[in-house]
Amino acid sequence: MTRLLSLILALLLPLAAHAQGGGERKPVTILISIDGFRADYLDRGITPNLSRLAAEGAHGKLRPSFPTKTFPNHYAIVTGKRPDNNGIVGNNMIDPRRPGVRFSLGDPKQSLDPFWWDEAEPAWVTANRAGVRSATMFWPGSEVEIHESRPPDWLRYDEHVGYAQRVNTVLDWMRRPADIRPAFVTLYFEAVDDAGHKFGPDSAEVNAAISEVDTRVGDLVAGLTAMGQPMQMVVVADHGMRAIDESRVIQLADLIDLPSIVAVETGPYAAIEPAAGTDDRVYKALLKPHDHMTCRRREELPERLHYGRNPRVAAIICIAEPGWSILAGVPTWPVKGGAHGYDNQDPEMLALFVANGTGLKGDVGIVDNIEVYPLLMRLIGVAPLPSDATGELANRLR
Ligand code: AMP
Ligand code: ZN
Ligand code: ZN
Repeated sequence: MTRLLSLILALLLPLAAHAQGGGERKPVTILISIDGFRADYLDRGITPNLSRLAAEGAHGKLRPSFPTKTFPNHYAIVTGKRPDNNGIVGNNMIDPRRPGVRFSLGDPKQSLDPFWWDEAEPAWVTANRAGVRSATMFWPGSEVEIHESRPPDWLRYDEHVGYAQRVNTVLDWMRRPADIRPAFVTLYFEAVDDAGHKFGPDSAEVNAAISEVDTRVGDLVAGLTAMGQPMQMVVVADHGMRAIDESRVIQLADLIDLPSIVAVETGPYAAIEPAAGTDDRVYKALLKPHDHMTCRRREELPERLHYGRNPRVAAIICIAEPGWSILAGVPTWPVKGGAHGYDNQDPEMLALFVANGTGLKGDVGIVDNIEVYPLLMRLIGVAPLPSDATGELANRLR
């Protein structure tokens, strides 16, 4: 009897939801980022929800853009432009037009200033202009008024907002009347990256974070299904994660006296400016061969990195051998656990890609993360702006 009852309910619920929503529900496109979800985490057998979306839909591995950091890659995914062209060339960066100022993701005075973001236009801005309503449950850049526009619904990033609350916020948006219901939504989770940094990619803590986020993705799908809301899901990560330790450290202080450089970024890669632009000693000391690290002038980086033409890229870029850390003096963070930022050819930097919806089927292999943009734009029905993407992923998933 109870089984019969639940069967009847299952049949009636979507109808009730349909009536409540008023009219046929159009599919919503949901872009989820699981920060630092390395591509192979999906093979750990601990992600029933993501694995089901992948098995019934499309999956592959995203090659991040260099540098394999959070802000440059989140912006690449929603603009289709690599960091050199989207303007977010690092989590930390400088600009010759703003002498003495440094952008860093923890400093809202700079990170919320459109000056840094205006070199590209994220999908939600283009969508809104085309009349497709967007809502962002966190995404780097979504708090910023880019090209004089913010998503109609957005929230100031706060890592303390719980994951159930994030999912419920999205579900609440979808319960709205059709005229103010979003058609494109972003959702962001940081726990897998946080645990990866603190405990390393092979830790029990990372697995716990993976399970937690997977459960929340399941809750979202269940909630949307219960309200009869059709969905197109695109689940990505910005980069992978690699184990680091104190025994694999390159100390810049051993190569050059630290006051003669400004280290804009250190870790898996270092972005270095000579403190006095004309100081040839810095170039001499850094540009020679080193163990476990390659340093180049920004004009001489390998073409495949597509990096160095933007004036925000520091004069010298040093890239550590995967697993090694470049330090400038005593680090402000412990050199243990995990890190990312290495060459984007490093297989451990590869990131999650799962898509589920009409026409989204099969294994797409390894694709550059800028290719997500044309796919997204097709799913939300808005013409993409010119970008660095070729459209190969969008063409493949038809
Ligand atoms: P990363 O240093 O590259 O590992 O950056 C990851 C961190 O970026 C996460 O731990 C988040 O706390 C932080 N983050 C993510 N989104 C935002 C945002 N919109 N504003 C500021 N910080 C963010
Ligand atoms: Zn990240
Ligand atoms: Zn990280």
